[in-house]
Amino acid sequence: MRKVRFNDVRAAYLEQKAEIDAAMEDVLSRGDFINGRAVGEFEANFAKYCGAAYCVGTSNGTSALHLALVAAGVLPGDEVITTAMTFIATSEAVAHAGAKVVFADIDPGTLNLDARRLERALSPRTRAVIFVHLHGNPTGIREVADFAHAHKLILIEDCAQAHGARLAHIGKPVHVGNFGAAGAFSFFPGKNIGAFGDAGALITNDAEIARRARMLANHGRKEKYTHEVEGYNYRLDTLQAAVLSVKLKNLESQVARRNAVATRYEEKLRECGLGFQGHEPSTTHARHLFVIQTEQREELQAHLKANGVETGIHYPIPLHLQPAYQMLGYKKGELPIAERIADTGLSLPMYPQLPLEDVDYVADVVCSYF
Ligand SMILES: *Cc1c(COP(=O)(O)O)cnc(C)c1O
Repeated sequence: MRKVRFNDVRAAYLEQKAEIDAAMEDVLSRGDFINGRAVGEFEANFAKYCGAAYCVGTSNGTSALHLALVAAGVLPGDEVITTAMTFIATSEAVAHAGAKVVFADIDPGTLNLDARRLERALSPRTRAVIFVHLHGNPTGIREVADFAHAHKLILIEDCAQAHGARLAHIGKPVHVGNFGAAGAFSFFPGKNIGAFGDAGALITNDAEIARRARMLANHGRKEKYTHEVEGYNYRLDTLQAAVLSVKLKNLESQVARRNAVATRYEEKLRECGLGFQGHEPSTTHARHLFVIQTEQREELQAHLKANGVETGIHYPIPLHLQPAYQMLGYKKGELPIAERIADTGLSLPMYPQLPLEDVDYVADVVCSYF
């Protein structure tokens, strides 16, 4: 029986092994493990790739989100609106900033925050919105940016799943992370660019946000022994930065391969009447995950497993119903779309090196169930 893995983080390494090994050896022989040369190089490379003025490397995506919120001016006691259909890091970052998370429902097609549903989450304390480009889908960010602008709210983008995603904006493609005050990225090994451990970054076009984020990430330092404020140890490791610069060179081709996989799934699965995430055709979807929706999720997942296919669920419990957020007092039924996606979403194998014959096999196994 064929075995199809959900993701294979070694495949990307093996494609660039010689160059990655050399970059790591370079760091090892220099010994500049903290704030070394490769960190500044990666920050410059990533800012350029994203078309942003500044990039600050961080220890992971959660710390990048936290820094983005604080550096952009979110204060204790503020409210921050975001989606309940995301990884908990999004809302953890809000709590780390001393603010309160308020969940709004998503668009049933794009699975992203729906600008038309944000109004009812507003209060006099609302300070910011975090837009999550779920599964790599940038659709909807422009409308949420317009909403944030109209209500004088800070917009932070959670781009942890969206490296490579772009939208046409005033006639030219704009990379995600450039629509608000700052964009936060994760380089967790399974993401579209994966480090060999934890790593992250934020991008911004605001010099003051960049300066504050950089200072806060390095113990609030102005100089070695002068601390302007109390900060954090949120620095990006030099070794990870060296790996990331090499991996960044392949990002474009890997996003194209992810899109080839997704397009093949869509062609095959449309024939058997399955629903999946929609996106504006004029955008570049980064295709971190490929998620289908079915009322028989558990049965289909078992059927796929019996046929050698690994799957995932992103995410089985929407954040507003997590035990960690019981104190916020949300009830089942309050965010019906996020709840329905939590009950019906099933993530199929997706990574750039996934052979198209495997995609066909997975689609055939799915369709044979229905
Ligand atoms: C992975 C992820 C994060 C957190 O990134 P870490 O690097 O694991 O801290 C944040 N938001 C979303 C949507 C993610 O998928």
